Amino acid sequence: METKKKDIRALTKEQLRGFFTDQGDKAFRGNQVYEWLWQKSAHSFDVMTNLSKDTRKLLEEFFVINHIRVDQMQRSKDGTIKNAVRLHDGLVVESVLIPTANRTTACVSSQVGCSLDCKFCATARLKRMRNLNPDEIYDQVVAIDNESRLYFDRPLSNIVFMGMGEPLMNYNNVLKAIDKITSPTGLGMSPRRITVSTSGVPKMIKKMADDGVRFNLAVSLHSAIDEIRTSIMPFNATFTLTDLRESLQYWYARTKSRITYEYVVWEGINDTQKDVDALVDFCKFAPSKVNLIEYNPIDDGKFRQASNAALERYVDTLEQNGIVVTVRRSRGKDIDAACGQLANKR
Ligand code: SF4
Repeated sequence: METKKKDIRALTKEQLRGFFTDQGDKAFRGNQVYEWLWQKSAHSFDVMTNLSKDTRKLLEEFFVINHIRVDQMQRSKDGTIKNAVRLHDGLVVESVLIPTANRTTACVSSQVGCSLDCKFCATARLKRMRNLNPDEIYDQVVAIDNESRLYFDRPLSNIVFMGMGEPLMNYNNVLKAIDKITSPTGLGMSPRRITVSTSGVPKMIKKMADDGVRFNLAVSLHSAIDEIRTSIMPFNATFTLTDLRESLQYWYARTKSRITYEYVVWEGINDTQKDVDALVDFCKFAPSKVNLIEYNPIDDGKFRQASNAALERYVDTLEQNGIVVTVRRSRGKDIDAACGQLANKR
């Protein structure tokens, strides 16, 4: 009877060492395999040339390497690259490489689809099918690192969890992936170069603070007025702004890390002085930065980018109140790779 092979990358280094000792071999073989899997991103056991043929055959018997495959790569006029990433079970997610003058950022997905229902987001139209495994998140980063070296002659410098899915709804796997990304036996990246962007799940923000994570936190806020936020992000009816703010206060008290807010200004939705004042009031309890992000319309055209005058009003008021503000032009619009546009549309 054929037994189902296990995904070898679900094993810790200790478990791999244990596998080899159980087979009457030396534990350090586990270290060698671990290095192939995580530092060298091996796609098959055949390439593990410092192992004997018999050892590779043994691995083949028990395990598979469920590697992702970049099915399609699209390049934007502005250099942005979008990968359609096929998972071992045939599902597809997207990740994006965003190049600027001095950095390359990977925007990665954490779930297939999303269970939240932000009205302005293309991903929300795909129902959540499953969480990504740590290795599937890790592989997206490795693929973008390789593309960055190939096309821009430099390694990947930053990672944002802003692709498909709500990362805090797949918290354990996101954390495990970040562990691998930052570990010297993985990619060795600094956690300060990683930002987890959440739509605001208060309980999980507190958990992150308790866990002492060292990466950055960004919150997709879009409105600091409950009624408006609920109309564009319906889960706000459950996770209200009061709860969100309280969790962020908790986060700041423990981490002393500045909080970044992602914020889109839409015409007729959140473009008045009242909206700006509410934002100032919401974020003044801790050092904050507001990224005003240019909006990329999705098909139905219900949401339209606000005027430059409205944006200026935000910038001026935030600056007058000592809040750091940047205006982010979106990248990769022509290939549907910009914020809010990821929807497996090819
Ligand atoms: S914006 Fe983020 S949390 Fe909201 S539906 Fe889209 S992917 Fe999900």
